[in-house]
Amino acid sequence: MTSPVAASPLPKYLAGYPPELLAQAQALLDHGRLAAVLAQRYPETHAVKTDKALYGYVNERKQRHMRNAPPLALVAFDAKLRLLQHALGTHTAVSRVQGGKLKAKREIRVASLFKAAPAALLEMIVVHELAHLKEPQHDKAFYALCCHMLPDYHQREFDLRLYLALLELAGSGAAAKA
Ligand SMILES: [Zn+2]
Repeated sequence: MTSPVAASPLPKYLAGYPPELLAQAQALLDHGRLAAVLAQRYPETHAVKTDKALYGYVNERKQRHMRNAPPLALVAFDAKLRLLQHALGTHTAVSRVQGGKLKAKREIRVASLFKAAPAALLEMIVVHELAHLKEPQHDKAFYALCCHMLPDYHQREFDLRLYLALLELAGSGAAAKA
């Protein structure tokens, strides 16, 4: 009866991206094509399903890109990390200053939902967390490091936000059927 356009607006954590990019994503969402487009862009799955496998996956990349970073006390999937905000922060710089000191992270926790995510998006979130070992804040130096490890980091982070938006919409029953 009514127009389906913008029936499911993209979540706020996509704000900050260029309007054209968001309009494009919104159009795909409105036409029920966003999931298919992401699946086509990232067809490869992965076999990292356990904490042990994740530990190996993370440390292999740490050895390759960040040999001098401090050792990790813990690498684990975390089922409590559900929201994108927890996994990524926001696209603009977020202060992580706590008690006047930058909090150094020595743990890498990856939301359990990444067990089922495309390989390219798992890689992106691992690169994100590895970069935090050196750069606590989401600033220019942080993103430069991410892009050094993964040249198409920005594209993948945007697509991850879309992927998580789809999961959220599916969870709320509002997602269009792909
Ligand atoms: Zn972050």
